[in-house]
Amino acid sequence: MRVGILKEIKVEENRVAMTPAGVEQMRLHGHEVLVESNAGAAVGFADETYQAAGARIAPAAADVYQAAEMVLHVKEPLPTEFELIRRDQILFAYLHLAADQPLTRGLIQAGSVNIAYETIQKADGTLPLLTPMSEVAGRMAVQQAAKYLEMAHGGRGVLLGGVPGVAPATVVIIGGGVVGTHAAKMACGLGARVYLLEKSLARLRQLADIMPANCFLLHSNPENLRHWIRRAHVVIGAVLIPGNKAPHLVSREMLKTMKRGAVLVDVAIDQGGCFETSRPTTHADPIYVEEGVIHYTVANMPGTLARTATHALTNATLPYALEIADKGWRRACHENEEIRKGANVVQGKVTHPGVAAAFGMDL
Ligand code: NAD
Repeated sequence: MRVGILKEIKVEENRVAMTPAGVEQMRLHGHEVLVESNAGAAVGFADETYQAAGARIAPAAADVYQAAEMVLHVKEPLPTEFELIRRDQILFAYLHLAADQPLTRGLIQAGSVNIAYETIQKADGTLPLLTPMSEVAGRMAVQQAAKYLEMAHGGRGVLLGGVPGVAPATVVIIGGGVVGTHAAKMACGLGARVYLLEKSLARLRQLADIMPANCFLLHSNPENLRHWIRRAHVVIGAVLIPGNKAPHLVSREMLKTMKRGAVLVDVAIDQGGCFETSRPTTHADPIYVEEGVIHYTVANMPGTLARTATHALTNATLPYALEIADKGWRRACHENEEIRKGANVVQGKVTHPGVAAAFGMDL
């Protein structure tokens, strides 16, 4: 199959959908790879590196859309690209269609086969192409919290790990899924006292076996939240209720009880946020202060750690991209339930129940 790698054109998006290492794997499977010029430049992959891995370089996106049977993007195509997408062409990317009617309509009209990273799902219900970004965001949340705790950034002036003779900071993490556990491991590694509040008892039991001794696992309920929020130097919001907006677990009244100069990182902001006072920010202007508490609420956190994020994402997407290229989309969807769940709009028809429900369409 001829596979095309497009340059990302969305604002603040520096990732690329395939590394040169991925190109080499595609070539080993007998596929041709066409990479748009400068597609990997922002993360340090020069065109020559792709060429050395066996890719051809195409001058513009139009050339890639014209020649490739499958195109890979990180983020969804923008309206300027809709008319370039060809009938029956496979598009493999993060699409988030249920939240974007114009894009859904554009892809229906294009007649392409649109497989979304975010709805590929394993039999145990996990979403393998969202996991790597949650890993990045969870770890990064602690780096951001440490930075904004510094007085130079308006913070309380507390070192997460303390020093001999001085107590470490108290870090409260709400939600013990992928984001929460990666944040907890980072904060524990830096020596903080970490209180991880999780609603699922089964998950708490799993975590009890793997988390370090300075991570205290607590059931998430309003009383525990009120108690620990008041004592926290850092609060990280990491809850997810699949298919729903995040619940507002910390109200403005609770925020008022927090220490001045404490830092709140709401990773769940992309689902509306789990603090009443959260509103989305950008990397260019990431924080604001409410009730004396610094809020960091960037909705695309991994975007600024694009090198790590590119490697993490492509490690996860490549096996699926290879399977689709090896078998063609029909056989890949037929033989692999995970890929079938990724199919959102196929040749003009919505095939994903969530997208159909969002727009009142028939499957
Ligand atoms: P996950 O499903 O792995 O974990 C969510 C956890 O929250 C689950 O363990 C669940 O039991 C728990 N939970 C649900 N309700 C709770 C409650 N009331 N109290 C405590 N725990 C509760 O999800 P994840 O991959 O860790 O993602 C978490 C959030 O981070 C999602 O909203 C995701 O979209 C978001 N995210 C944001 C960014 C960003 O850049 N801002 C990046 C990656 C992920």
